[in-house]
Amino acid sequence: MKLYNTMTRRKEEFVPLKPGEVSMYVCGPTVYNFFHIGNARPFVVFDTLRRYFESQGNKVTFVQNFTDVDDKIIRRANEEHVPFSDVGARFIEEYYRDADALSIERATVNPRATEHIKEIVALVARLVDAGHAYATPEGDVYFAVRSYPAYGKLSGQSVESLESGARIDPGEQKRDPLDFALWKAAKPGEPAWESPWGMGRPGWHIECSAMSMAVLGETFDIHCGGQDLVFPHHENEVAQSEAATGKPFARYWLHNGFINIDNQKMSKSLNNFLLVRDISKEFDLDAVRFFLLSAQYRNPVNFSRELVEQASAALTRLKTTRERIARSPVSETETEADAAFLAAVEQYARSFNEAMDDDLNTADAIGVLFDFCRAANTFVSEPRSRSAIDAAARFFDRAAHIFGILQKTAEAEFPAEALALLEERAKARTERNFARADELREKLRTLGYAIEDAKDGAKLKKL
Ligand SMILES: [Zn+2]
Repeated sequence: MKLYNTMTRRKEEFVPLKPGEVSMYVCGPTVYNFFHIGNARPFVVFDTLRRYFESQGNKVTFVQNFTDVDDKIIRRANEEHVPFSDVGARFIEEYYRDADALSIERATVNPRATEHIKEIVALVARLVDAGHAYATPEGDVYFAVRSYPAYGKLSGQSVESLESGARIDPGEQKRDPLDFALWKAAKPGEPAWESPWGMGRPGWHIECSAMSMAVLGETFDIHCGGQDLVFPHHENEVAQSEAATGKPFARYWLHNGFINIDNQKMSKSLNNFLLVRDISKEFDLDAVRFFLLSAQYRNPVNFSRELVEQASAALTRLKTTRERIARSPVSETETEADAAFLAAVEQYARSFNEAMDDDLNTADAIGVLFDFCRAANTFVSEPRSRSAIDAAARFFDRAAHIFGILQKTAEAEFPAEALALLEERAKARTERNFARADELREKLRTLGYAIEDAKDGAKLKKL
């Protein structure tokens, strides 16, 4: 598989540190609010990459942090007159609700900054001891950017060019405008932890270095996030991690492109940060996920209602094909048409992998899935061999699983009451009690569900 590495600015063959195992770290949310569609893109994209690695037989350790102490969290807690930890706990729960609805698999580990203060303090101390960081009399600790000559290598900027834009804010005791905070001295009313420099709390950048290294080790395979994190967040992560360990930090850096809303950049001034929670009131998040994957991850995408509606219609077409495959009449004999179709499915599978292996080109892979569906729709209109039908189902299911679409089960789609009535009706029919079966059909209709009788059993459908 080839992946575009931001560090080297080219597509490189991905070779994991340990064969058959992949370690990934994705910068997670700062938990002070629901997450917006711009946050959702990296979550969905890198979940898809993880699913693809797993489908190829790799064991993936997927780490995504929660930043649960931060200015915005503290501000919200003060406004609501609750402890800052309540805000974090609440929005971690809300994160899971939206992420589950987007079929984002749970991470192997979700480290929280407040649970890794010890590691963070130890890493800062290591940098101070090595002369890469310094404490001010006020108890702040800064990373000395000029002590690390490779600074700027990830974002491709020179220290000189960065110098001109750097400022020292009033109250900051930095030696150099480029230096950034590793540890912040406690201010009154803020959460704080003990450290060799007095009570304080971690800066944002150091959290990700400490947590990724705590779970994945000093060198790991892939670090990913949105393009907006390349500078300064990831640049600073590289600098402080490699300065501390003297080893390469992440081996591949992956960044997804921006998302525009109705052709406009998401910005504070336009106040167009669409929350996933609000979008979910209007659209099935399956369609939103499919829409987010409709472009290769490094390209920008434009979010509009019309495009999500199109994605939703495309999903319905996919679902119809899958149902046709499931209901295909079976023939006892294997014909030439079956053999030709089996060969075609193998070719679709190769093309699908080729697209995914080319820097996770989900746009092309989705194209392959639709080509397959056109062929399958025609194919299953006549009785076909069991092996050909099964191969079609396997190809489809693997693609749908990797994309994380159409994964929600009937149990999740329909209330237990309706499913129980459906089951009762099936029983009545096997007992040839058709009057009772009709009664149950009518009862379901009043609840808003129709019954579709199919070869593989009856199914519910929303009226
Ligand atoms: Zn991070």
